[in-house]
Amino acid sequence: MEEEGARRHFWQESPGIIVALVSAMLLLVVLWKISLLSKEAGLDRSALQRERVAVAETHRILWMLDGIDAYRYALVLSAPDLARRRTEAELRVHAVGADFRSGPASTLGLYDRWKHFDAAWHEVLRVPPGAAAYGRTASFMPRIPGLLAAIEDASNLSYDPSVTAQNLGDAYTDAAPYTVFSSERLRILMDLAVAQHGMSLKQRLDAAIAMNDVRSAGESTTQDNLPLVATLLTSVLPERAAQWSKLAPMANEMHAAAQAFALLASDQAIEQTAPARSQATFDAAADRLTAAARALGAASAEALDLSLQRRGELTEQRNRYFYLLYVLIAALAVGIMMSIVQLLARRDRLALRRAREEAEALQAQLARKQAEEALRLSEAQFRTVFEGAALGIAIVNQGGTVLQANGTFRSMFGDAFAKAIEGRENELARLFAGEGETFEFEQHTNGPEGQEVWADATISAVAGNHDSALFAICMFRDKTALKQNERRVQHEKTHDPLTGLPNRRYFEDCVKRRFEEAHALLDSFFAVFVVDIENFKDVNESVGHTAGDAVLTQLGGRLRVSIEARDVLARLGNDEFAVLIESLGDILHVESIAGRILNNLSKPVMLGSRPIHVGAHIGIAIGGSNYDRAEHLMRDAEIALQHAKATGSRYAVFDSKMYERTQKRLQLTNDLRLAIERSELRMLYQPIVSLYDDALVGCEALLRWDHPTEGLLAPSEFIPLAERGGLVSLLGHFVLDTAASQLGAWRREYPALGEFGIHVNVSASELLAPDLERRLLVAMQDNGVRPTDVTLEITESVLLDAGTRASTLIERLREHGFAICIDDFGTGYSSMRYLQQFKVDTIKIDRTFVTGADGELASEPIVRTLMTLAEAYDVRVVAEGIETRRQREALRNAGCRLAQGFLFSPALSAAELVEMYPDAFGEATPGEPKRSASA
Ligand code: C2E
Ligand code: CA
Ligand code: CA
Repeated sequence: MEEEGARRHFWQESPGIIVALVSAMLLLVVLWKISLLSKEAGLDRSALQRERVAVAETHRILWMLDGIDAYRYALVLSAPDLARRRTEAELRVHAVGADFRSGPASTLGLYDRWKHFDAAWHEVLRVPPGAAAYGRTASFMPRIPGLLAAIEDASNLSYDPSVTAQNLGDAYTDAAPYTVFSSERLRILMDLAVAQHGMSLKQRLDAAIAMNDVRSAGESTTQDNLPLVATLLTSVLPERAAQWSKLAPMANEMHAAAQAFALLASDQAIEQTAPARSQATFDAAADRLTAAARALGAASAEALDLSLQRRGELTEQRNRYFYLLYVLIAALAVGIMMSIVQLLARRDRLALRRAREEAEALQAQLARKQAEEALRLSEAQFRTVFEGAALGIAIVNQGGTVLQANGTFRSMFGDAFAKAIEGRENELARLFAGEGETFEFEQHTNGPEGQEVWADATISAVAGNHDSALFAICMFRDKTALKQNERRVQHEKTHDPLTGLPNRRYFEDCVKRRFEEAHALLDSFFAVFVVDIENFKDVNESVGHTAGDAVLTQLGGRLRVSIEARDVLARLGNDEFAVLIESLGDILHVESIAGRILNNLSKPVMLGSRPIHVGAHIGIAIGGSNYDRAEHLMRDAEIALQHAKATGSRYAVFDSKMYERTQKRLQLTNDLRLAIERSELRMLYQPIVSLYDDALVGCEALLRWDHPTEGLLAPSEFIPLAERGGLVSLLGHFVLDTAASQLGAWRREYPALGEFGIHVNVSASELLAPDLERRLLVAMQDNGVRPTDVTLEITESVLLDAGTRASTLIERLREHGFAICIDDFGTGYSSMRYLQQFKVDTIKIDRTFVTGADGELASEPIVRTLMTLAEAYDVRVVAEGIETRRQREALRNAGCRLAQGFLFSPALSAAELVEMYPDAFGEATPGEPKRSASA
């Protein structure tokens, strides 16, 4: 369209073309006009002028010829007016010569030729008068027609385009000169005839010819030339045609004059007589003819002049057209140039526009490319973000088909979008129905390989054309690991890592939960069992901790199968388990459950091929509306357990007495804190004697608590309380200080006291206290006692607990001089090993080996073996708990040398001891009691 518009506008915006076209058209018109004018005007103006000159000059030459002829005839006749005629002829020749030299005919360029003619003329002038003159001048006469021909040649009168001028010229020349010439000639002949009084034949012939010429000239003017002239004038000068119609009467006049004259001349020539008589008539006729001829000639000349003038005007006009032609050519040239310039400009403009359009197209293309590039980039970015996103992203359509899903999504749900949206199908449908823009939920489902998937999901609609959602963008933040970790942490918090069983905390929560349920349902009963594995330390000790763990795990499994699935089994601590029996139809049912548990636990646990026997104690508390706090249930089960342990029964169901006892113990624990301040503790000393002579060799310091209301309490009644109440070190202090100060006092008071050692019991927590060594040394130093007089009694179990730390400590204590005694030897599993592991000084054979039925030694072979062993390791042996003489005998027989027991003496106060063994103390009067250090 643009192109078309440009084309349409081209003409309008290109005046050059219009100028060129218009000027070209005008040019054609002008050229046509010029050719027309040229045709009318003939040659150019100078040529016409030359024609006119030629015609006029022809006339003058005829006039000159007339003069010359008259002179020639006069010369031949030797006429009286010869001189006049000679002058007249010379005058005429001279006048024509002037014409050629510098007159109008000079333009014809015939002056040279003229000079030849003039020379010949002078020859004629030298010819003397007489009859011979005619012949002598005859050769000159043809020179005159030659001159005329030369004029005709020079003026181009014979040229075709100037035929009009020529014809006019001919008419002009024909009309008068020959007529005049012939009439003059006739007059000369007549004059001659008058002078000769007759005419010769030749003269008559001449006269006849001249008369004929005159007559035919007169006729031809009316018949030929003049009508022609009239026609020519009419065609060339139509406006003058009327004016020139007078030529006809003039021609008729001349014709008539010629007739009259010829008639007259013929009469005269015929008559040859008395020409003088009619001289005047003849002259008048001749004059009349000459005048008519001259008038006609003048009219013809005028016609020629007019024609020339007219043609000059036409030429002028044509020349003006030529100017116009030049102007038009210039205009055409300008138009063409303008067109070319405009064409070039247009071409440039088009090229420019095309270039601009191309540039624009290129720019657009570039912009599109850039846009495409940007799009591709953003798409790539989107892809990277989409694919690399930690979020699982899926784009789904209304049909639930996944259009696009990233790697995270696929790893979470595979191709199963249904899984991802499981349970939320209705919400998704609502979203697609245009209800709401987004919804969120937490998804917990299975992945493609059945693995668990937790995710926070956000589903957003992408609006389509008609307000209904076309796509949904589903984003899933995977929190499986988080959840699993949370769960693991939760599990770890609530479960025992070794057996995988719930831990104490979890168990307590369960109990609490069940307790609250029980309160809601008043009549439902449940029970808490606390199961303590007996002597599990010994198991650990004998098979190692790893194997011990395996045993525990197995025991856990046995407990599990002993109860119902809904019941809760937990591991409370080291070797302590707990069971929550969720429902009890009958309270007595607990006994059967306990029985089942104990039965299952009593079967040997197999470690490879090695059977391990363990026992257990169970404490049971029955829950129901009787409790108002869940924690009390646990507490009571523990109390029942303690009770079972204490009483040696396998299980015990909590009752209120147990509670009271526990309460009492609690009271005692509180009292114990004050016991030292209140000096309620007493230190007693049980003698250690020689089995051979019952002589005192040492004593064991044993603690008593003289409670204000409960009376004298044995260590078994308060040391466990002290252990639990963290009071052991206080007691230890007291015992060490008291024993050391007592020994120091004895040594000072009874210098005779010989070899005498004091045994002090060191409990597990004391041994583990970091300052034991320092405290011992301080106590020794403060009381001036030698460590060699002090034996530290440590039970196997204490050694077991303390582990390697104990061995180095014991090593150091022995280096200080303290003696070490393993107490209750033989009750543990690895008693023998201690002899190898620790360098000890004494072992104290436990009472269980000594006490048999009716005073017998319980296990004589064992005692004997122990004795042999002790001897091998160079260890002293003390047998404790000797109550009968038979026991004493048996031990003595077994090789045991030292003993302790009620047979010899119970624990005594310091004073009682001195009183009982005065010999040993070197006491003079045994009845005099000494004040004891502990009192
Ligand atoms: P143990 O070290 O085995 O002490 C011997 C226990 O056996 C003492 O009981 C003693 O009175 C008792 N006994 C002595 N001979 C006989 C006998 O022939 N037959 C019977 N049935 N028993 C006899 P006690 O004094 O009640 O001490 C019990 C336990 O208390 C001790 O056992 C000891 O382990 C601990 N104990 C006592 N005094 C202290 C102390 O000062 N410090 C520490 N840490 N523990 C102590
Ligand atoms: Ca002891
Ligand atoms: Ca003992």
